[in-house]
Amino acid sequence: MITAGTRLIALLGHPVDHSLSPLLQNAALQVHGVPAVYLAFDVPPARLPDAVQGLRALGAAGANVTLPHKQAVIPLLDALDAEAERIGAVNTIVNRQGQFVGYNTDAPGFLAALHSRWKGDLSSAAVLLLGAGGAARAGAAALMGQGVKELLIWNRTGRKAAALCQACEAWGPGSCRVVPSEELAQAAGRVDILVNATSAGLAAGASNPEIKELEQLDDIYRQDLFVMDLRYGTRTLAQTVAERGVQAMDGWEMLVRQAGMSFALWTGLQAPLDQMRAAVQGAA
Ligand code: NDP
Repeated sequence: MITAGTRLIALLGHPVDHSLSPLLQNAALQVHGVPAVYLAFDVPPARLPDAVQGLRALGAAGANVTLPHKQAVIPLLDALDAEAERIGAVNTIVNRQGQFVGYNTDAPGFLAALHSRWKGDLSSAAVLLLGAGGAARAGAAALMGQGVKELLIWNRTGRKAAALCQACEAWGPGSCRVVPSEELAQAAGRVDILVNATSAGLAAGASNPEIKELEQLDDIYRQDLFVMDLRYGTRTLAQTVAERGVQAMDGWEMLVRQAGMSFALWTGLQAPLDQMRAAVQGAA
């Protein structure tokens, strides 16, 4: 029930109309009877300072920040959690007695999801990461922070892979290398984990894969490879390779885990992950 004591938790992004966060967070708030409501706001980049100032004026309990604001919001905050500072991106703001503190739950959400299914040791693992956008950045920061032995990054636009690889140097001691398209199949053939952090389909149908460089990867899906596709709500690589007996997971668990971690930061309560999963089941 919304009363005069109900507090606001906002999502700031541009666009936000397809976000599943309101479903996830309002389900969690209801399970625990937290007197707060979670609402999404489409905020173009030029209005971000006003929006954050507005949340301060309204005494909002906190916020999520999504594309394209995850880095631009940092100078607008009072303090950063160590993980957000290390990664240089914020997806969660907590109002701590009037101080807006920035956190990052994308990277730990990625890790929690990965470890929910893959039981190996990252310090002896080689990972091939496809993509160099926001999701890839969270994955790379998480993997480097865990001391992954070797991170290989491939991206359609090579210079973005090079920039992400450079950022990786500050995130952990492991080695990072850009993989050019002509070496992609060879790289995929020897890694322990393959992460698809692109928004493209992979081998959705053998006759019409959306990433042409990956057509040749059809043969390399080995039984000892683990595939994590961060996409959800569409036919993912995870489904395609799982049908061939390769261990795989899609992006639903990461989505729920990062949301659960944000919920815990705002409320101090353990996130009701099962109810959150149920809230978005079949939603996308
Ligand atoms: P960005 O727009 O930041 O990055 C998109 C990435 O996909 C870039 O690396 C881009 O390459 C690549 N890409 C896009 N189209 C193609 C194509 N046709 N062929 C090859 N590469 C392509 O998006 P995000 O990083 O935010 O999101 C990426 C995916 O991850 C999305 O599907 C999103 O839904 C999912 N995601 C999942 C989350 C979860 O919690 N599970 C969280 C966040 C995102 P280039 O640089 O060349 O343009």
